[in-house]
Amino acid sequence: MGVLYKSTRNSDNVVTSSQAILMGLSVDGGLFVPDHMPKLDVSLETLAGFDYKQTAYEVMKLFLSDFTEEELKACINRAYDAKFDIPQITQLHEADGDYYLELYHGATIAFKDMALSILPHLMTTAARKNHIFNEIVILTATSGDTGKAALAGFADVPGTRIIVFYPKHGVSPIQEKQMVTQTGENTCVIGIEGNFDDAQSGVKAIFSDSELRGRMNAAGLQFSSANSINIGRLVPQIVYYVYAYSQLVKSGEIECGDEINITVPTGNFGNILAAYYAKQMGLPVRKLICASNSNKVLVDFFRTGTYDRNRKFILTMSPSMDILISSNLERLIYSLCGCDSEKCAAFMDDLKTDGKYTISDEMKAGLSGFASGFADEEETLEEIRAVYDRSHYVIDTHTAVASRVYRKYREETGDERKTVIASTASPFKFSRSVMKAIGTIPEGADDLALADSLSALAGIQLPRAIEEIRSAPVRHRMVIETCDMKNTVEKVLGL
Ligand SMILES: *Cc1c(COP(=O)(O)O)cnc(C)c1O
Repeated sequence: MGVLYKSTRNSDNVVTSSQAILMGLSVDGGLFVPDHMPKLDVSLETLAGFDYKQTAYEVMKLFLSDFTEEELKACINRAYDAKFDIPQITQLHEADGDYYLELYHGATIAFKDMALSILPHLMTTAARKNHIFNEIVILTATSGDTGKAALAGFADVPGTRIIVFYPKHGVSPIQEKQMVTQTGENTCVIGIEGNFDDAQSGVKAIFSDSELRGRMNAAGLQFSSANSINIGRLVPQIVYYVYAYSQLVKSGEIECGDEINITVPTGNFGNILAAYYAKQMGLPVRKLICASNSNKVLVDFFRTGTYDRNRKFILTMSPSMDILISSNLERLIYSLCGCDSEKCAAFMDDLKTDGKYTISDEMKAGLSGFASGFADEEETLEEIRAVYDRSHYVIDTHTAVASRVYRKYREETGDERKTVIASTASPFKFSRSVMKAIGTIPEGADDLALADSLSALAGIQLPRAIEEIRSAPVRHRMVIETCDMKNTVEKVLGL
């Protein structure tokens, strides 16, 4: 039986997978979720012999039921190619008994490439299948990495345009430079005087504006999303957890059926939700360890059952996790409340009006598969230093948060199970913080110079993505107030 998608806020809104990818968000403001969880239909033994693309097909075919084999394989082949700097697409690096799943070998050196290199192909295929002739306008809010990965994926893709909003003062200099130098006639990058939550709320409001949707349609345009609210982002992210497991089997680190833990540095809850879906598909996973930085709204939620965003937004050295409204948590809430869309909608209403909600004890019991913890700024630096000293392995600030939280978890629980730590960005993307941890910072050195120093110090080659932006001209300079997001979109689209 194929999988259909329902809105978390109104289960009467049911669509096919290709329609869900095209829409991004349901018209009621809810997120699309699978109407049932498909199970892996090849054995773990068989998967251990598969490469990344074969694994991708086995996983994605189960969720994208209305794509033909030919369509899906074409998308996979176009996505996972020489854009990645290792032929295996992702790899596990063992350091001192921990397994870092390096998800940053794509074009923009963050894990967002894993899904955003395939999303444009899924989206254009979906448009074709549904006889959509409108131009698709991708609206994206970014905390730093999604923006660039989405721009790289959609640049000059016929039939699409992309508009990215990023917090002007909330991303690393290298993240910003990557975005504002983006080429492509169909790309538009806009800084906002606000934080990621402002950007995300603004984008969601534009999506659910039915009056605007009408005018867009009349002009031959329609919106979609490249954020992890789009199931076309989420589904490709399930693949690498299955792949990581099968690599551990292949190398003899575990036997088929052994449970592993997975630790994920978390912001919008997309990456860890993909791991949760992998577990529900039958992957043997014991704990999903949710790691936060000082914006620890999720840690408090896991401990108390109350989600409360009424707190100070803290800018940290792991900016891609500086988020207080984790959108994808809505999908977990929906699952915890027995797929009751009315209940789920009520929680989300509370979040909108009071900035908080509390789940019942019964729902809280459903969280037993999760552990959580946070690492502050000092601990993050210490972790980068400790891993480097012990193993001569360099990790970025986000990965360091996860690594530290995992270490604390292991000490507290004595759980010695093999654990995969999602390594979400190249250390070169956050060269200043990384050099602060393991080297020295010469006066006046900018982040690109520090990337060179890091390369020299650690003896790792500078990634192509960093070389590319060194001399690239700035093409996007627009900075606006948060309240002007809708106007600006209308202006950019000529509405
Ligand atoms: C986006 C991002 C995260 C957070 O992932 P979510 O899916 O939003 O939870 C963590 N680390 C890096 C480097 C990222 O780019």
